Amino acid sequence: MRFETIAAQAAHQADPATGAVAPPIYLSTTFERDADGEYPRGFVYSRSDNPNRRALEECLAILEGGEPNDAVATAFASGSAATAAVFQALSPGDHVIAPDDCYHGTARMLREILAPWGLRTTFVDMTDPETVRREIQPETRIIWTETPSNPLLKIADIAEMASIARSAGALCVCDNTWATPMLQRPLTLGADLVVHSTTKYISGHEDVTGGVVVSAQDDAFVQRIRLIQNVAGAVPSPFDCWLTLRGIRTLHVRMPVHSANAGRVARFLQDHPRVAAVHYPGLPGHPGHDIAARQMTDFGGMLSFQVVGGQNAAMRVAARVRLFVRATSLGGTQSLIEHRASIEGPDSKTPDDLLRVSVGLENADDLIDDLGQALE
Ligand code: PLP
Repeated sequence: MRFETIAAQAAHQADPATGAVAPPIYLSTTFERDADGEYPRGFVYSRSDNPNRRALEECLAILEGGEPNDAVATAFASGSAATAAVFQALSPGDHVIAPDDCYHGTARMLREILAPWGLRTTFVDMTDPETVRREIQPETRIIWTETPSNPLLKIADIAEMASIARSAGALCVCDNTWATPMLQRPLTLGADLVVHSTTKYISGHEDVTGGVVVSAQDDAFVQRIRLIQNVAGAVPSPFDCWLTLRGIRTLHVRMPVHSANAGRVARFLQDHPRVAAVHYPGLPGHPGHDIAARQMTDFGGMLSFQVVGGQNAAMRVAARVRLFVRATSLGGTQSLIEHRASIEGPDSKTPDDLLRVSVGLENADDLIDDLGQALE
C-alpha cells in the first residue's frame, strides 16, 4: 500500500456491531470479563488499552514503518509525555546526546527533570557529525535528533546519526513532528525510534493534544516504553485517539499544501528588504538543503525569519498581521506566527528578532499580502 492509501484507510474497519463506517468512540473505562476469568475480546481497562487507541497505534505504526513492518506505536497524552517515556526507559547514569536547538520543552525536560534523576545530556550542534562522534561516551544510550529543528530548522543527517549511534551501541531517536511520516521516514533511514507530537500536523486541526513513540521493532526497550504507558498512565483519551486518527485520514492531502505555501512564503521573505534571514530548508541557500532534499520528500510547512531592526521590529510585525494568528504551536489549518524567544523564556537561545511561522492551508497569495503589509 502506498502512503496515501495507508493514511486514508489503515486500521479502519466498519463497526462489526452496527456497520458504522466512522469508528465508534469507546468511552468505557472497563471491559467485561468472561465467567472463566478470561478477556477474549482483548481489552481489560482503558488505561492499559482501548479500541480507539489500538486503532490509532496500528495506523501510526504503518504510517512510520511502511507495510509490511514490525513497527510498534505507543500513544501518549502529549508529545512531551511520549518524549518523557523514551528517557524514562533509560537508567540513571545513562548519557544522551541531543541537539542544542531542540524543542525547548525537550531541553527543559532533560535539564530540569531528568538531570536531577541522574540522566546526563550533552547538547551539540547536530548538523556536525564530527561533534556528535566526539561526544560519545561509554554510557551514551541515545542520540536524539530533531530535524528540521525547532525553531531554527537546522537539518541533521538521520542516516549518519543512526550509523554513529549503531557503532556506539546506542539508539537513534528522531523527533519527526515537523516533517511527519508523509515527508520523512526516519525508521527507513536507520533510526530506531520516532517520536511525534501528534498535536501538530498528524492531528492537524489545533484541537487535540497527543504524542506517540514508534519503534522499528518490538524489543525489550519498547516493552519498557509500553510499561511506562500503562503503569505511569499518561494516556490519550478515546476521543483524543479518535480525533487524531480522523486527522491522519487527510495528512497526505494537507502536507503538500503546507509545503507549497511555505515555499512561496519563504521565497517572498527571502527577497524582502526588511528581512535579515529566512530559515527554510527548501531554500537552496539553506545550509541543510542538500541533506533535506535527500531525506525528505518535501520541505514542510514550518519556517522562521529574522526581522531587520531587532526584537521590537519583530514584535511590530507580529502585532500587525491580520490573517496570521499570533499563537504558539503549529501544524493546523490556520497560519500562526509567534515571537519565539519570548515564549521560550529568559534562558532562550533563540535570536530575539526571530518570528516562527506555521504556514497553514490558506491561499499563499493572501498570506504573502498579509506579511507584506505587516513588514511595511
Ligand atoms: N516536539 C516538537 C518538535 C514540538 O514542536 C513539540 C511542541 O511544540 C513537542 C515535541 C511537544 O509536544 P506537545 O506539546 O504535544 O507535548
